Amino acid sequence: MTEGLSSNHPPSPGLDIGQSLWQSCVDQLAQELPEQQFNTWIKPLTATVVDDFSKIIVFVGNRFKLDWIRAQYSGRISALLEKMYGQVILVELAIAPKEAIAKSITHQHFVEMVSAEESVTAGEAAPSGLPKNRLNTTLTFDNLVEGTANRMARAAAMHVATVPGHLYNPLFIYGGVGLGKTHLMHAVGNRLLADKPGSKILYIHAEQFVSDVVKAYQRKTFDEFKERYHSLDLLLIDDVQFFANKDRTQEEFFNAFEALLAKKSHIVMTSDTYPKGLADIHERLVSRFDSGLTVAIEPPELEMRVAILINKSRVEGSEMPEEVAFFVAKNVRSNVRELEGALRKILAYSRFNQKEISIQLAREALRDLLSIQNRQISVENIQKTVADYYKIKVADMYSKKRPASIARPRQIAMYLAKELTQKSLPEIGELFGGRDHTTVLHAVRKIGGERQQMTELNQQLHVLEQTLKG
Ligand code: ADP
Ligand code: MG
Repeated sequence: MTEGLSSNHPPSPGLDIGQSLWQSCVDQLAQELPEQQFNTWIKPLTATVVDDFSKIIVFVGNRFKLDWIRAQYSGRISALLEKMYGQVILVELAIAPKEAIAKSITHQHFVEMVSAEESVTAGEAAPSGLPKNRLNTTLTFDNLVEGTANRMARAAAMHVATVPGHLYNPLFIYGGVGLGKTHLMHAVGNRLLADKPGSKILYIHAEQFVSDVVKAYQRKTFDEFKERYHSLDLLLIDDVQFFANKDRTQEEFFNAFEALLAKKSHIVMTSDTYPKGLADIHERLVSRFDSGLTVAIEPPELEMRVAILINKSRVEGSEMPEEVAFFVAKNVRSNVRELEGALRKILAYSRFNQKEISIQLAREALRDLLSIQNRQISVENIQKTVADYYKIKVADMYSKKRPASIARPRQIAMYLAKELTQKSLPEIGELFGGRDHTTVLHAVRKIGGERQQMTELNQQLHVLEQTLKG
């Protein structure tokens, strides 16, 4: 495959491999099963592999068939896929939305429809099987790669895990998506639990907390709710920006917060911005958030991205040569989650085609991603580039701060987002900390108008556009 051809090759390699993986599984079953069984049960199935290869969703015609397939065949399907793919791949059975059968919809729609449908997971523990503390035991300090970007946050978290209730209470960790905030929180919980197995720990996403409050409200079970939260030794609460505009939740959280601090229990929180940058959260809560230690996690630098790739592929049982890791790390820059997605594609591609991991192979496996990246510029990327250029924090792109030194770069970033991406005004507003589309429109008009008259601004915009277009 030549480089020249690669950029305009339309289908996603993830889907290609996914479909051939599924097809191989079906072919194998055709040989194993009596013809009639195969024709009745297996042949009508369709499947889609989630783009990052974390799972395969198998669509079944109706509820009855779903139960039958689960009972009779899902074990064999899982085993075959695992054998072919080279590692465990989660198999999820779902009732096929009618349109999905017609195959006229995109992969993304598939996934959205599935989450809207009832779906049944085979093999893995159901959500009700979560441990009470909701800790994900696979997210630990051991597998969290350290670098300049997360050194401070990691050290503070480690301290909290070892000596909870003393320094840095609450610990407030903020940063953009996919940078390891959630991972770090679970690491704190897992470490404390390992050291002091009796500890009462709870990891909870802010949205879940909100729904707990709502439930307590409806069922009039606030006493239980309080007992549950106020008795903890360690509360890990993720993405507190979701508390915005939820007054009752904020009040309950404030109460829990005070009760926990009074008995020297530790609280760790994460958010996409620093406390004072949070929108629509009561001032008294914001000042509590800021009363311990606030640390940022930055996007990982090149060497850290390389280290993460090498580490993670080793965990998956494959060696990624350093030059390949550098190639990938140079091309996938936004966050660790994206890096993991790229790695999964490369490993799947290598296993499925039984080829060694090389730069050429990585280029092929990531063909789609690389060409999209060349053509498309993400809003995240614009925010980061503009923030760097004007020397403000990336978090200020979502914050509600209004001084001109911040508001202006933010308007410039909004203008560039409208100019350089396909996103709509409401979508852009959402990505800038949930702002209204009229705010975006105002920024676009203002900067667009001023650019005609102010040569200096025009110059700056040119530089930014060039940087972004690469
Ligand atoms: P966030 O909560 O900031 O959005 P996550 O904690 O969910 O990000 O991290 C996204 C993914 O990247 C997770 O799978 C996590 O394990 C992984 N990850 C993030 N940072 C690191 C790191 N420094 N080393 C190893 N894996 C990391
Ligand atoms: Mg998270």
